Formats: sequence, C-alpha cells, structure tokens
Amino acid sequence: MKIYIETDIEGIAGFCFFENRADKSYENIQHRYRMRRLLTDEVNAAVKAAFDSGADEVLVKDGHGSGYNIIFENLDPRCRIIHGRNCSGPHWLPLLDASCDALALVGMHAMGETPNAILPHSKWKVNGGAIYLSEGSMAAAIAGDYSVPTVFVSGDDKITAEIKSKIPNIETAEVKQALSVYQACSVMPARACEMIYAGVKQGIARRSEIKPYHIQGPVRLNLLDSPGHIEHKEMLTEDVEAPTIDQAFMTFERRMSWTCFDTSKVDGFVFP
Ligand SMILES: [Zn+2]
Repeated sequence: MKIYIETDIEGIAGFCFFENRADKSYENIQHRYRMRRLLTDEVNAAVKAAFDSGADEVLVKDGHGSGYNIIFENLDPRCRIIHGRNCSGPHWLPLLDASCDALALVGMHAMGETPNAILPHSKWKVNGGAIYLSEGSMAAAIAGDYSVPTVFVSGDDKITAEIKSKIPNIETAEVKQALSVYQACSVMPARACEMIYAGVKQGIARRSEIKPYHIQGPVRLNLLDSPGHIEHKEMLTEDVEAPTIDQAFMTFERRMSWTCFDTSKVDGFVFP
C-alpha cells in the first residue's frame, strides 16, 4: 500500500501569523524554526499512522513556500520526502498517480475570503465560479483525476468544514478553532499529533468507502489572491482551459512568475 501526504504549514496547531521571510532577526528565525519543528511532528504522526496501517511506501510532499520546510532528518526513516519546487509537472503533487492508495492532507488552511478563518489565502475559481477550491481541495481534485481518494485532512475548523462539504465522509482533525485572520484557539502540539495519528489511521482503514473527489473536465481555472493574501482579492491572469483539473493547474502555474522560480533563478530557497 502506498500513501501520499501533502503538507502545508498554516494549518498546524500553534501557527497564527504568516511567515515573515524578510525579517532576519534572531527572534523571527527562531520562531520560524520552531514552527517547522511543530510541522515536522504533525507530518511524522501521519507518516507513522500510514506505516502502522500497513503501508509499505509513504511519500511526503513538503508543500509550503520554498518546499523546504520539514526538518526531514527528524522524519520516520521509512518514508521519502519530495521537496523543492516543480513547475515542470506532470502536476502539483509529483509522483502522485493511480498507484497511490490514498492521499492525506496535513496542515491545511481555508481558501481566501473565508469568514473568520485563520490565514485564509488562495481561492481557485473553477468553471467561472461553479466550484471554488482551497489548496487542500485542489490537491484532492488532482488526486481525484487519478481515482485516488483523499481520506484525511487536518487544519482549522474552516478548512475541515470546506473539505467535508466536498468529501462528506473524510476523516478530519481540527487542531485549532479559527477566531479571526490572525487568532486561533489551538490544541497542544502533542494532542494535535495524537489526533492526526488517529485520523490518518481511520481514514486509511476506511479508504474504500471514501469516494475520490473528481471534477469532470474540461475545466476553466483561475485564482483569486493578492500580494498580502488577506485583503483585496484579484484575478492574477486570464482563465486557463484544459481537459482536466491537474492539467489546468500546471498550465496556470507556468504562467505565474513565482512558480517558475525554479527554472528562472539559481537560488530557490528564498521564496517567493
Ligand atoms: Zn503555506
């Protein structure tokens, strides 16, 4: 059994401000490193749950910012990690294909404009607004193109609600209750890891009952976002059209200057 784990940092317990990459103070660097440790522990809980459920292969994708956040020397040595950034495809979740048995999402955040969500950003507009996707449900839809079910999501109460509206019987772990854009009530890190471990185990055990989240193509895709993420939302480019959601996503990514960073600049660590 092969399990794929997509990760982000904004949805982990204890995280309530966007990363400030410009601030090189000792305090900020220490804070960022601390958040990465918390992320690593939550991801490790999901990895261990997958192996304890009988997986013989677990792929982790480091999905936030530079794609180089998880302190991978602290991860379970049985897994492999995909890090760095990729605009050449075949899609956003490299090595995810029909050979995977399930996708799990750790540390997800709500889509842009979600009321009272913590750090909401990125709002994918599909077919002129017939469907809106967060980064988490976008990952689920890409997996759906390969008939891979998304069996677990962790994050705040707003992202778990959105994903549940699309995948009703998915397992969830609400590791924090969002109170506003920059405030949340979190469970303690050790408790978050217990919740994630239990949820991933349940999700994998129930994977045959959980339908892949599939969006029928062809699709038109656009993204609403803004430089500061939170305030005014704007379309960044014209609609992209493609036969499937994953093809639309990659076409879109190639149009965005910051996602082509890996081929246009030498130092890819400072991102965006
Ligand atoms: Zn992120």
